[in-house]
Amino acid sequence: IFNEKSQFEGTWRLFNLAVPLDQDPGKDSQEVSDALLQSIAELLKFPVALMLPREPFSVVRKSFDARKEPKFVHTVDMDVQKLLSLEPFSLECISQLKPKVGHVERVHDGGDFGDLMSIIRDCKENKEGLAKGKNGHSIFSNKLYKKQDIKKPKIAVVGSGPSGLFSALVLAELGADVTLIERGQPVEKRGRDIGALIVRRILELDSNFCFGEGGAGTWSDGKLVTRIGRNSGSVIAVMRTLVQFGATKQILIAGKPHLGTDRLVPLLRNFRQHLQDLGVTIKFGTRVDDLHIENGHVLGVMISESADELRLKSQKLECDAVILAVGHSARDTYQMLLSHNVELVPKDFAVGLRIEHPQELINKIQYGELASEVCRGRGKVPVADYKVANYIDKDDFYESSDSKVASRSCYSFCMCPGGQVVLTSTNPSEICINGMSFSRRASRWANAALVVSVTMNDFEALNYYGPLAGVEFQTEFERRAAIMGGGNFVVPVQTVPDFLENKLSVTSVPPSSYRLGVKASNLHLLYPSHIIEALKHSLATFDKELPGFICNEALLHGVETRTSSPIQIPRDIDSYESTSVKGLYPVGEGAGYAGGIISASVDGMHAGFAVAKKFNLFDGDV
Ligand code: FAD
Repeated sequence: IFNEKSQFEGTWRLFNLAVPLDQDPGKDSQEVSDALLQSIAELLKFPVALMLPREPFSVVRKSFDARKEPKFVHTVDMDVQKLLSLEPFSLECISQLKPKVGHVERVHDGGDFGDLMSIIRDCKENKEGLAKGKNGHSIFSNKLYKKQDIKKPKIAVVGSGPSGLFSALVLAELGADVTLIERGQPVEKRGRDIGALIVRRILELDSNFCFGEGGAGTWSDGKLVTRIGRNSGSVIAVMRTLVQFGATKQILIAGKPHLGTDRLVPLLRNFRQHLQDLGVTIKFGTRVDDLHIENGHVLGVMISESADELRLKSQKLECDAVILAVGHSARDTYQMLLSHNVELVPKDFAVGLRIEHPQELINKIQYGELASEVCRGRGKVPVADYKVANYIDKDDFYESSDSKVASRSCYSFCMCPGGQVVLTSTNPSEICINGMSFSRRASRWANAALVVSVTMNDFEALNYYGPLAGVEFQTEFERRAAIMGGGNFVVPVQTVPDFLENKLSVTSVPPSSYRLGVKASNLHLLYPSHIIEALKHSLATFDKELPGFICNEALLHGVETRTSSPIQIPRDIDSYESTSVKGLYPVGEGAGYAGGIISASVDGMHAGFAVAKKFNLFDGDV
């Protein structure tokens, strides 16, 4: 493949470069080690590894692979120009290389993506370089910025989760007058409210695990994996922006990037400071209660502030557009939208239970003897995780011919190695849970949701109809879980063997990381039988894949219901504007366009550009 002169330029990407665990500097190292150079030399069929210089090579991905011989697997970029500039390399010498087929790929030219701030700065200067991606993906496809004096549009961004923050950032960088409205508190105060919840059982309705600065992702596991394409320009731009605000550079390279709550909190403070420096007005403790709509156009929002457990009277905030980035737990906001006939469409999602094992057990299942090298996140080997999935074919599985009994997927979701189970309820009469971790993932427990897909048929089977059927379906199980736990945020639990045998755990249940207490219960009574059957069948399948997954220490917690949004708010594919109300831009997870920190950030970023385009702050294609 190195046979044409024109190809001795730019960057080549080298894949599947393995380095045995004992020769690698460790999971956190990004260096091109001697062992990695050896592996590169083998791939290129270059005879003397020692003669390869380090400078032309940079690690772009590094993942741990525990199968057979434990190793780190790297993807490395080779700067051909740099290589040629070094002795003894020459065109002739390089053209002798015979890299393994399928392990090398040309990386398109055009520079690398920067963070959003530098991309926009380049746009303003009409430079195109940084705006193009290495892999041929481009954020902007043409000339970018209209240099003309225009009136600054007033944009209200509702919600400071990842989608709201990235919309606000793009718009403020492009010169809009942005007000960011967040019902919850800034991270400092939010941390204290979450502390009061865990220690004193006080649930602040607007400042908790779901609501507050940074949104649902702040007190989370901080996994930055995404299903929307890790190498896409948009994802790279978001990741680099997070690095600018203080995230470790490792997230750009790690196969499974992860931050953890302790790293997210300072990052959010820096993000906030940057927005304020750009002139963004941030209103914490302020909820959008209503929209001011006239003739099908949004003209403003009605907001109320919280003060000493009271809500101050609603005031009107006029604006030219509203970006609605409220997440999937703002059920009151969904109701408000319906009252204005904003179109909401029910969406499939998944419900189930959260399973917790001792982390050591998961390490042993995944790594065998190597488990001893994990050392609670301090070792060379990453704390082990897992991902399991099972498809349940209705015809093979269920005896009943009932049409409500459909084929379903059951899968693990939001697995938190070295984490803890947390309460993500936003109402004291409901229980729903999720998982979080700190950066080192050093806790003794591993938890993950085990969820089963549900559709409109399931909602209707429980007599829930209409746009909010999915929300009512979720709420039903959250209420049942709260009653089963007996109140005070106590969570109902059952060991996996008892769940499989449908019997109440009479002996003492194993310890749980959940801090507000657990109560032995029969979780079969929580969900309809076909969901329980799907979970039981899948547990048996998962145990074959991960032998030891079914064990007495494995504890199921109820309930996990908010895996993704139960609704979608239809919007125009290009302009991002709601199809039912002008000037309203539904974004992120709550609007049904994202699932996770990175996809929500990307959606918010794109919406920011779309709104900027509408108000002539920007004239490119995103
Ligand atoms: P959100 O983050 O939900 O933000 C919405 C914001 O809007 C909130 O701050 C809320 O207070 C505010 N708001 C709502 N209504 C109003 C109103 N009327 N007025 C003013 N403000 C309002 N994803 C991952 O990718 N990796 C993980 O490891 C991960 N772990 C998670 C752990 C937990 C405990 C939870 C709860 C979620 C986790 N997620 C994780 C999911 C991730 O957090 C979400 O997908 C993401 O935060 C969605 O972003 P968003 O901006 O769309 O909405």
